[in-house]
Amino acid sequence: MKVEINGKMLNANEGETILELAKRNDINIPSLCHKKGFDGLGRCRMCLVEIKEGHRTKLVSSCVYPVKDELKVQTHTDEIIKIRKDIVMLMYLKSPKNKYVQKLAEEYEIMIPEKYVQKISDDCILCGLCVEACRELGTSAISMVNRGTGKKVSTPYDDESKDCIGCGSCAEVCPTNAITMTENENTRTIWNRTFELVSCEICGKNYTTLETLKYSENLLGQKIECICDECKKKITAATFKESFKNIY
Ligand code: SF4
Repeated sequence: MKVEINGKMLNANEGETILELAKRNDINIPSLCHKKGFDGLGRCRMCLVEIKEGHRTKLVSSCVYPVKDELKVQTHTDEIIKIRKDIVMLMYLKSPKNKYVQKLAEEYEIMIPEKYVQKISDDCILCGLCVEACRELGTSAISMVNRGTGKKVSTPYDDESKDCIGCGSCAEVCPTNAITMTENENTRTIWNRTFELVSCEICGKNYTTLETLKYSENLLGQKIECICDECKKKITAATFKESFKNIY
């Protein structure tokens, strides 16, 4: 299927979104709440683009809009840049001390008089990617709570969560590094709860929590070897090398 982005004809795959097609072809569309491997959320709105289907032109979130044959897309019109600037301005008003938001504000030349900037900076931009990651990879331990200016991501009643397994997926995907996860020698602390860490049987490095390991074992219905991702990759590479040696 053929899709035109910024005047360039591209080969698109059935089922991919405009953002995925653009990324595959090194066309920059800014996006904050999109992460490879997750469905688009269309929440931060930074990935807004203009599309033309037949005679109709409209603005859509490119992370959720599927490609269609003969679709024409513009990623950086004056109107789009203006909307993105407004979005960054709102983010900056909420999170003026966050370095990711500061970088965006600089890029979009946002100037806000000091008196309008909130004194208390909250690093979370409420994109909801952490909630999605916890739903898909964790245990749905966190959610968006409250409304209006009190809206935030939290555990139920801000308490130490019984459901959290300390897998760290939420912190890993956060685009503004707003979730605090700290580790010392043998423990990891996240969402006000401290977990014991498990070490890799091969390299001895601490790599996950006991609860995450147990959770995965329950899901798979079998015991899992305590081997970290890096060692697993090394084992797979060595096995491949060995089988190639035997063939040639
Ligand atoms: S660390 Fe806890 S809250 Fe974060 S994704 Fe894992 S289970 Fe969910």
